Amino acid sequence: MFNSLSDRLTATFKNLRGKGRLTEADVDATVREIRRALLDADVAVPVVREFTAKVRERALGAEVNAALNPGQQIVKIVNEELVVILGGQTRRIRLAKNPPTVIMLAGLQGAGKTTLAGKLSKWLKGQGHSPLLVAADLQRPNAVKQLQVNGERAGVPVFAPHPGVSSEFESATGDPVAVARAGVAEARAKLHDVVIVDTAGRLGVDAELMQQAADIRAAISPDEVLFVIDAMIGQDAVTTARAFDEGVNFTGVVLTKLDGDARGGAALSVASVTGKPVMFASTGEGLEDFELFHPDRMAGRILD
Ligand code: GDP
Repeated sequence: MFNSLSDRLTATFKNLRGKGRLTEADVDATVREIRRALLDADVAVPVVREFTAKVRERALGAEVNAALNPGQQIVKIVNEELVVILGGQTRRIRLAKNPPTVIMLAGLQGAGKTTLAGKLSKWLKGQGHSPLLVAADLQRPNAVKQLQVNGERAGVPVFAPHPGVSSEFESATGDPVAVARAGVAEARAKLHDVVIVDTAGRLGVDAELMQQAADIRAAISPDEVLFVIDAMIGQDAVTTARAFDEGVNFTGVVLTKLDGDARGGAALSVASVTGKPVMFASTGEGLEDFELFHPDRMAGRILD
């Protein structure tokens, strides 16, 4: 991820090395290169426009800083603006005053929600919490089973509808809203302090899916709604994120498949267009491949 963007930006900044003063033309040429690099990395057009306008304005107005040469100054500005579009500060899960803290997962099918549910539960367990997983994805054959497998691996119990009944049967008869509600009640009764509710995703955004997710949200009043998005989806990230934001008003973003060779555009666009922070990054298929997302570290990696 970001290798190509990183190389392009580094090459651009190299051209500024040794320059004692930057003319407006130098700044414009640099900003043009940054714009091309971001567009080629699949960053959404409005995000690129806003980003480059800010960098240009700050670079032209930059106060003289004796410690930095003009090239370094632009790198510093780009770094700071990258941190801003990645969501600013690291944002941690808001724990409920009265447990359980309810976390709902939403996103397209294949985004990595069920995998993430296992990772997040394991991570929370490692921090001393006692999570419960709830299988409210009754759409995809096997989703319940997959969550049960992940729960077992993570050492976290799973609340599932009709245990022992085939997933085909569940998808035909199960009511995901009722399952989500019952799962949260179970967490409360069994004194779990965090409950993670996995919900259904479909291949594309559709009204029925969104209504179901909105109904689940209304039924369980989550403290966090995490929108899980595959970093590989490129330019589609923005439309998908907007649709989910409208549908379920998510509180944070989880980027998955950051280990892949995605060009990074989704990562840079989603937080910016929705104004919601990226909270976690998923970096592989294993339960350990998961980390808190730090905007400053990610920006540093891009400018490495
Ligand atoms: P869901 O439909 O949203 O629940 O998606 P799944 O959790 O079933 O994930 C879809 C596929 O992506 C599975 O094959 C996962 O193993 C894989 N996957 C999930 N997260 C990651 C990740 O961060 N990196 C990679 N490489 N694969 C992932």
